[in-house]
This record gives sequence, structure tokens and C-alpha cells, in this order.
Amino acid sequence: MIKDNLADFANKRYGQNFLKNDYYINKIIQSIPNDSLVIAEIGPGLGDLTKELVRVRNVEAFEVDKRLCQHLQTEFSDAIDNGSLKLNCGDVLKHWEDKSLLSEEYHLVANLPYYIATNIILKAFKDPLCKSILVMVQKEVAVKFSAESKQKEFSSLSVLTQSVGKASICFDVPAEAFVPQPNVTSSVLLIEKDHSEDDENFEAFLRVAFQQPRKKLSKNLLVTFSKDKIEPLFEKLGLIPNLRPHEAQTTIYHHLYRELKKDFIDGKQRTEQSRRKQRRDKTTK
Ligand code: SAM
Repeated sequence: MIKDNLADFANKRYGQNFLKNDYYINKIIQSIPNDSLVIAEIGPGLGDLTKELVRVRNVEAFEVDKRLCQHLQTEFSDAIDNGSLKLNCGDVLKHWEDKSLLSEEYHLVANLPYYIATNIILKAFKDPLCKSILVMVQKEVAVKFSAESKQKEFSSLSVLTQSVGKASICFDVPAEAFVPQPNVTSSVLLIEKDHSEDDENFEAFLRVAFQQPRKKLSKNLLVTFSKDKIEPLFEKLGLIPNLRPHEAQTTIYHHLYRELKKDFIDGKQRTEQSRRKQRRDKTTK
């Protein structure tokens, strides 16, 4: 019944663009790293990709939409019974809050809902059991994650990616391959992790460094750090004063962070303390 009127059925709130194209589904399957790890699938939807995944691996899937969960429970009753599919109904981010997504090492494979795609990828960077990420995302997002330093798209997301492993865009997928069609081209992005990074302060530091991506890196840093710190540090690291954020290598960001970390964390704490004090003062007035 669901399949008769997919465009009306799809819930925009959950980013539902169903991949209805066997050619691209098979290309995703062929791009999975070649080992025997279990697959975590986020948002199995109607199960078109899931059907091919359970042919090649054990799968644990997470679907938030109750209507789709019911549909999947019926459609995949055999796979659920024989243990090749484990289905979790509910918001994957709630399930993932303070622990690894699965209880064993896994590859993440998904046609991600665009509204939380970046969040999910960053979460997977931190999860030590996640060994690789093979996901369909908006092409622009895939380019940001996989850009190399000196390319204009090189961003804080590229630095975070290079801090956990290496990324490549496997192929693009046109809007016509989906029902309903999105307004953008999509890409399948592969990130092979060699380790995990879970430092929220490094992420926040990168947001400062890339605050105004076309401005000088030193200008962005001077919003938070003193001139006395930044100028000698640039000199020590042999960085030209005009360097733009996209021109610095990932290792440079790690060097800068190592040197500025203490001031950065102290500064954040001071700001938080003064915010709390302001709130207290307001309530006691
Ligand atoms: N995998 C299917 C396919 O390729 O056709 C559907 C992909 S669709 C782009 C995204 C899927 O993620 C939808 O099924 C949607 O309901 C689900 N979803 C959205 N937000 C979610 C969340 N927070 N947790 C789990 N699943 C979610």
C-alpha cells in the first residue's frame, strides 16, 4: 500500500527521499570495504538498500518512522527471525547518545536523511567501533568532508575527516534516482577511519579558525586569542601572516590547537561561568 503513492507518503520532516534505482544500490554494495564486519544502516526506509545489504552481511538498522518500522518488520520477518537483520525503531541519535552505536566493530552504510547527515558523520568519527562510513549525502556536503587543503572547499569538516582517516567520493547520484526527487545532486562518500577522535574542544576551535573562511586565518583566531599568542606562534610554525583558513594543512591545525588549547578551554570556561553568574544575578533581582 505504501508503495502505491510514495511521493505523498514520504515525510519531509524525516528527510525521506527513497533510492529507487537498482544500478546505484548495487554500486553502493560494491563500495563496502572488503571484510566481514557487520553493517549499521541508519534509515532503512522501505528497505530497498537493506534487502541487498542482508544478502552480503549481517545488518543492524535504525528507523525513526513508525509506519516504516511496521512495514520493515513484515517485509523482513525471515531475516529478523534468522538473525541477519536486527531492527531498532526510534531516533538513532537517542540510541547513540553516550555509547557506541553497535556493540561490535561495524561499517556504517546509509542513504542518510539530509537534515542530520553532518551530525551523524561527526558522531561516527567519535565512535571507536565504527571502522568506516559509506553514506549518500548532498554532493556539497560530500565535497566539504573530502576536500584537500588548498582547495577552496577545504573546511573544518575536511580537517576533522583527515584527523580520523581518509575520504573519497565514490560516485554521484542524480535526483532522478529518488522518489520523491530531492532538489540537489547526491554523492556517495566513503570515509575509511584509521582511528577515532572525540575532542569537542578541537571541533569548537576549528569553528573559530574557519569562522570567516575567506578572511585571514590569523584574523579569525584573533577574535578569541591575543596578538601576543598568535604572532609568535605563526612565526614558530613558519606560517605566512596572510594564510587563509583553507590553505593550512590538517597537521597545522593540530599544532595550533596543541599550543592554544589551554587558553581556549580556560576562555570557554570563563565565558560559561560569567553566563551562569549573569543568569543568577538576573533571577535574584
Ligand atoms: N534507506 C532508504 C533508501 O535508501 O531509500 C531511505 C533513505 S531516506 C533518505 C532517510 C531515512 O532515514 C528515512 O527512512 C527516514 O525515516 C530515516 N530517518 C530520518 N531521521 C532518522 C533518525 N533520527 N533516526 C533513524 N532514522 C531516521
